[in-house]
Amino acid sequence: MNSDRLTINNEKRIEISNHELLIRKSFLSFTRTASLYILIIFILLSCSKTDSSRAELALGTVCSVTLFEEGKTSVYEEIFTRINTIEILMSVNIPSSDISRINAAAGIESVQVHEDTFKVIERAVFFAEFSGGAFDPTVGPLVSLWGIGTRDHQLPAQDEIEKILPLVNWRNIELDTETHSVFLKLPGMARDLGAIAKGYAADEAAYIIRKAEIERAKIDFGGDIILIGIKEDKSLWRVGIQNPGLSKGNILGILQMQEKTVVTSGVYERYFIKDEKRYHHIFDPFTGYPAESGLLSVTVISDISMDADALSTAIFVLGYEKGMDLLTVFPGAEAIFVFEDKSVRVTAGVDFKLTDESYWIAE
Ligand code: FAD
Ligand code: MG
Repeated sequence: MNSDRLTINNEKRIEISNHELLIRKSFLSFTRTASLYILIIFILLSCSKTDSSRAELALGTVCSVTLFEEGKTSVYEEIFTRINTIEILMSVNIPSSDISRINAAAGIESVQVHEDTFKVIERAVFFAEFSGGAFDPTVGPLVSLWGIGTRDHQLPAQDEIEKILPLVNWRNIELDTETHSVFLKLPGMARDLGAIAKGYAADEAAYIIRKAEIERAKIDFGGDIILIGIKEDKSLWRVGIQNPGLSKGNILGILQMQEKTVVTSGVYERYFIKDEKRYHHIFDPFTGYPAESGLLSVTVISDISMDADALSTAIFVLGYEKGMDLLTVFPGAEAIFVFEDKSVRVTAGVDFKLTDESYWIAE
């Protein structure tokens, strides 16, 4: 029932007795008031505190954000809009993205990109140099050849790998900081920011949360985690570290810490098994095969998620000793190394408790 029907239809109005009208008017007035109250409650709920999280599929994974007791809808909206923008700029699966345009123009011409993309590419090149090429953002041809994580994964022939290896070399990237242009010198080269851009997206989400003056939050973008603020009861944050021997969601142990970022690279994320051997998605750019450094996973605990993302991948490729050399350059950075023999090493500042007793802490 609505007020228009009562006032517009004159014939009907004549048929309605005064008593009926009174009842209908009272009912109308009641529903109007109730609707108003519902509207006010809805607005209050959406503008104020909602202790909830939001998760969306983006960046090829589940991106989840929890703003705890200060979860304003507008902040969630801003975060997920930002993530989508980053994906549109940096995904290799979107033909119009900056990265796809750079790859399509490899060996032909340089491509001007958005400042976000340029920032991530510059940092990726820094980590390529810093890691002596273990981290290499030009692994694109290897990612395509192996197809790990896709239905078309394969174990390529040795000569196929040898043919594309010269295309994997970060030194053949030319950057123009004035114009934000990027040039891949050889035709067939391809950039891939899969090992660093999720970290950048997590940092950007954290920036939005801090700007909104939200005190406590948790960001988890498929293994790239940022914890913001101090828990209400002042206890440390607790993060479950993925068990690299089991499927996703099974933990190896619990890490306790203050406000930090935690990023893990491991063999479990994307892989296929052939003749009882596991072929995973983190490549050694020098051999063209999945890295075999004796590690199952590396977790880096630090302050900037983009750096921790690049570091965890680089350290995974380099292995424990050389990886430790890299880590020590970053003040305050800590790590958890999980080895193929099921031993686990943690750096001095890590508070980690194993929960899977088939693993053991090595001194
Ligand atoms: P990391 O160790 O951080 O990175 C491993 C990845 O980096 C590999 O998968 C490879 O891409 C690359 N890599 C491998 N070896 C090296 C090396 N030596 N140096 C540098 N890089 C290396 N996945 C989808 O399935 N569908 C999508 O639509 C999709 N869109 C994405 C969009 C964006 C913008 C990004 C950043 C990623 C996207 N992904 C997508 C990829 C997906 O989320 C990856 O699994 C993820 O980026 C790998 O991250 P990781 O943390 O598991 O491993
Ligand atoms: Mg990484």
